[in-house]
Amino acid sequence: MSFCVKCGEDCEESLNGLCISCWLDGRKLTSAPHHVDLRVCTNCGEFNIGDRWIKKDLLVAVQDAAADSLAAIRDVRVVNIAMDVEVKDEYVYVVTMDSTCDVLGYEAHDESSTIVRIKNNVCRRCSRQLGNYYESILQIRTGSKDLSPELREETLAMVENSVARQAATNRSLFITKMELVTGGVDVYLSSMSLGKSLARELSDAYCAEFKESPKLVGQTTDGQDMYRLTYLVRLPEYHVGDIVIHNKRFCKLIRVSGNGGRVIDLMDFREKAVRRADMSEIRLYEKSSELREATVINRSGSEVQVLHPDNYSTVDLRIPEGYEPGDSVRVVTIDDVLYMVP
Ligand SMILES: [Zn+2]
Ligand SMILES: [Zn+2]
Repeated sequence: MSFCVKCGEDCEESLNGLCISCWLDGRKLTSAPHHVDLRVCTNCGEFNIGDRWIKKDLLVAVQDAAADSLAAIRDVRVVNIAMDVEVKDEYVYVVTMDSTCDVLGYEAHDESSTIVRIKNNVCRRCSRQLGNYYESILQIRTGSKDLSPELREETLAMVENSVARQAATNRSLFITKMELVTGGVDVYLSSMSLGKSLARELSDAYCAEFKESPKLVGQTTDGQDMYRLTYLVRLPEYHVGDIVIHNKRFCKLIRVSGNGGRVIDLMDFREKAVRRADMSEIRLYEKSSELREATVINRSGSEVQVLHPDNYSTVDLRIPEGYEPGDSVRVVTIDDVLYMVP
């Protein structure tokens, strides 16, 4: 037990010899600067908080900026801030903060205010993106002369999804631009590692090979060599659904993954696995989009009779066990013989 040197009252707690109420009397507990500048990117609308750029609602960003600028004196802890925001114009906000403070277990209140000024800026990512910055190029090609529009759309969708996924946690990752070139498409990317991860992803999805080649583009200010990396992904000509030749057998390709593929042999309808290392030996025979349809006119056991799509003669076709063909089946001609494609 001690007593207050000012009012003389006995008190359990004292600060500098004063009881809590004498200590609090007229004392300013919190303070805020006259103004705070809050930088906003005029391109993406994100706010600069500390050393990061973050997507926020404008009023939330204004209040957060004000709260961050609030300081409390020694022995005072701010436990809650009630905000009042007065909008002067779209760039100027007066924020009054009514703080609930804890002083040695006692609750006290104090009010401070600051002016939050919105400053237009361009964040680093946007300035790079707007300035066409890139560190790597992903070149998507096929073994043949051209990349088909379908395959192009499919691979670009994969690339865009992957970049969106990775950019969610790392905002320095982006696609600078995409360019259609003879034989395929070039995707310019903000980072080298992004180029590599996309090349790997595509090569896994299609069992394709990729090649990395560095290109010296200059030197940094401190004399380090500066490189850009080009990742060339050569997609195989075949695609899931196509008729391919594997080990001299005609097969339908039914799956491709990072581990290899699976095919169905058209002669006996058996499914087989193809190791990734052997995928490069697969040759395209006919694209699934070019397969013909034949009308089923009769079915019995493991055979159906169809009308030949070219000459309308009746042809017997073997079908897989337990297979129930519809009114038409897809067929392929191999050495003048028609085979059913399951
Ligand atoms: Zn006192
Ligand atoms: Zn931005």
